[in-house]
Amino acid sequence: MKLSNILNSNDISISCEIFPPKSGSELQNAFGIISKIADTGTDFMSVTYGAGGTSVGETVAIAAEIEKNGLPALAHLTCVGADESKIEDILSKLQASGIENVLALRGDLITEGDTKGSFAHASDLVAKIKSYGDFCVGGACYPQGHPEAISLDQDILNTKIKVESGCEFLVTQMVFENEILYNYMYRLMAKGINVPVVPGIMPVTNVSQIKRICELSGTTLPPHFRAIVEKFADKPEAMQQAGIAYATGQIVDLIANGFSNIHVYTMNKPEIIGTIRKNLSELLK
Ligand code: FAD
Repeated sequence: MKLSNILNSNDISISCEIFPPKSGSELQNAFGIISKIADTGTDFMSVTYGAGGTSVGETVAIAAEIEKNGLPALAHLTCVGADESKIEDILSKLQASGIENVLALRGDLITEGDTKGSFAHASDLVAKIKSYGDFCVGGACYPQGHPEAISLDQDILNTKIKVESGCEFLVTQMVFENEILYNYMYRLMAKGINVPVVPGIMPVTNVSQIKRICELSGTTLPPHFRAIVEKFADKPEAMQQAGIAYATGQIVDLIANGFSNIHVYTMNKPEIIGTIRKNLSELLK
């Protein structure tokens, strides 16, 4: 199913992201995670591509497994280091596996020797995917501005190019303060960007991981959340409970203020999305 059907309806959707294992031998393990997440009733699952050193080849296999579990899959695809023929090869594999949704990303040059590839910006990849086949294409957006952008306004203008290239929805970088999202929405609308925006919510369960992710992505932790992180840094179970409670509160507030689609960064832990969905069971009816 195309995600545009889900994201443009008024029904509330709570989806989640998983990432492929770092080595192929763990693929069966990933399939087990997918099955457990599917049991929680999540509305769709996205699968990252090459992020954090995960194996790029597995994205198609994992997306196919998500579809086999009866859920729409959103396959991430990055253009760094890939020439046009490699992108076409992956798109043909996605088509052959019945995957209709792609999150088109630029990616980052991480490993020494990485090359830029045929497409400079995610917007170029969006245009390529739309011209290649009948895919529903989304892109990333950054409520606090992409770290490389000279200003938030400039970043929003660049996001507009992505939308004009055929991007049908946007998934945000993780945000820990909803006010930032509400202000961002005003600015998107002022620039004429009207596609569905899906807030990315990260239930923090691992303190050192979140510090690293925030540094890389330019995301800030608000003081009231920083206090939680500092208090429970050495108590993993307490941190997980507090992180899920904080994320649940954020989601309730987002839904109350008009967002109907939320994407949860679950870090491959089915219990996280399961608990969040249980916490929200009455809101999801
Ligand atoms: P772009 O949209 O190309 O933007 C990158 C920078 O270029 C921005 O500063 C933007 O303002 C600027 N820009 C964009 N278009 C133009 C233009 N036409 N002219 C001039 N400047 C322009 N990374 C992975 O490797 N794998 C993943 O699976 C993955 N999933 C992600 C999912 C989400 C929801 C998010 C938010 C990020 C994800 N990333 C992933 C990280 C992403 O690849 C990086 O943040 C990357 O630095 C930017 O990707 P982008 O698609 O936003 O790039």
